[in-house]
Amino acid sequence: MKKIILSIAVLGTLASCAPTKKEQSKEQTKEEKEVVIKEAVKIDSATVRKHLYTLASDEMEGRKPGTEGMEKATKYIEQEYKRIGLKTFDTLKTYRQNFTHNGIEMSNIIGVLEGKSKKDEYVIVSAHHDHLGMKESGEGDRIFNGANDDASGVVGVLALAEYFAKKGMNERSIVFVCFTAEEMGLVGSKYFGKDIDASKFVAGINLELIAKEPKTGPKTAWLTGFDRSDFGKIIQKNLEGTGYKLFPDPYPKFNLFFRSDNASLARLGVPSHTFSTTPIDIDADYHKVTDEAETLDMGVLTETVKAVAKGTESIINGVDTPTRVVIEE
Ligand SMILES: [Zn+2]
Repeated sequence: MKKIILSIAVLGTLASCAPTKKEQSKEQTKEEKEVVIKEAVKIDSATVRKHLYTLASDEMEGRKPGTEGMEKATKYIEQEYKRIGLKTFDTLKTYRQNFTHNGIEMSNIIGVLEGKSKKDEYVIVSAHHDHLGMKESGEGDRIFNGANDDASGVVGVLALAEYFAKKGMNERSIVFVCFTAEEMGLVGSKYFGKDIDASKFVAGINLELIAKEPKTGPKTAWLTGFDRSDFGKIIQKNLEGTGYKLFPDPYPKFNLFFRSDNASLARLGVPSHTFSTTPIDIDADYHKVTDEAETLDMGVLTETVKAVAKGTESIINGVDTPTRVVIEE
C-alpha cells in the first residue's frame, strides 16, 4: 500500500513540478503543529508506569471496597492528590467522600483544581479505582488486579491532574474523581450525583480500559455516546493535526454508554462520556485474573492520556461548552 501511494506522489510531483510556496508552508505548518503538541503535552511516562504498577500490584488485592487492599489503593491516590496540590471538594474536609452501601464502608476520592475565571463551572475527570477483589479459593493466581479495568483510568486521572496543575490554564474548575464500587453497579458515581447541582457540571471525561490498542488502530481512541452531545466533535476538532484520532464507540450493541460511571452524570444531563481503547469484544483479560500490568501497552496508555489532555483543552479553558445530554427512557 505504501509503495503505491509513494509512486502516485512522485507522479504527482512530476506532473505539477514543485509544490507552490503556499502548499509548502501548509505542509510545514502541519508538521510544526505535531511537534508543538508532542512537546506541549508533557506526561511523564515513568510516573505513568509507577502509578499503574502500584495500583495493579498484588498488594492491592484486586481493590474490592471494604478490603485492606482497597484502603492501600485509596491511600496511594490521596497521597498523589496531596503531592499534586489538589483541594478538597465542596464541603468535604478530606479527599474521601465516605458512605455505606450494603453494609460496606466505601469512599469516592475527590480532588479539585480550582478554575481561574470560571470557578463555579466544573469539568469532571474520572475513573473507577475499585475492581473485583480476589477469588475465594482455588489454585494459582487468585487476584483480579484490574490493571486495564480500571487502574489504567485512574492512572489517567492522576496524570491529568498533575498535567493541568502544572499547566495552570484551567479557567474552569476540574473535579478529579476516583469512583468506588463501579463494579457493584456504578454505586460510587450514583452517590456522587445524588447531591450535586448538575447544572454546574459542563462536561464529564471518564476513562475506562485505556491501555490496549483499539481495533481502530494505533493513536486512536473511541468515545461512548458519541452522538448524544457535541463533546466528541469538540475533541476531534482539538486533535486535528496531532496525528491522534477519536472515533465513536465501535460496539454500540454492548450499550457501553450506560455501563460506566459517565452514565450517572449523563442521566442528570451532563455531557459525560467514556474514553476507551480496548477491543473488548475479543479481549481475553477482561474481568479475568490475567488483567495484569504486564499485559498492557504503556505507549497506548501514555499517548491516550496526552490525547485526552490536548483534546479537552478548549473545554478546560472555558472556550467550548458541549451541548447537554437528553436521555429518554
Ligand atoms: Zn471498568
